[in-house]
Amino acid sequence: MPHFEFNGTEDDKRRLLESISRNCSCPPRPFGQAINPGEVCAPHRMLLEKGRVDHLLFERAIKSRLLKEEFGVTPKDTKRR
Ligand SMILES: [Zn+2]
Repeated sequence: MPHFEFNGTEDDKRRLLESISRNCSCPPRPFGQAINPGEVCAPHRMLLEKGRVDHLLFERAIKSRLLKEEFGVTPKDTKRR
C-alpha cells in the first residue's frame, strides 16, 4: 500500500488493490524477497505517487456526473453484461 495517507474509503482501497493485483506484471519472487526497483510493474509504481492515486480517486468520485452530463448515461448503464 502507499506510504502516504490514502484519501479514499476502505472500499476504494480494496478495489484499487484488487485492480493492481489483476494487472500486476512484477516478476515472481519468494515471499519477503525485495524486488529490483527497475522490475516493478506500472500499476505498483503508481502506488508510490500520491498525486496519481488522488487523481484516480477524484475521477472515480466524479464519474457519475461526467457520464450523465456528457453522454446522458449512468455508470449502471455502462456495466458490461
Ligand atoms: Zn506489480
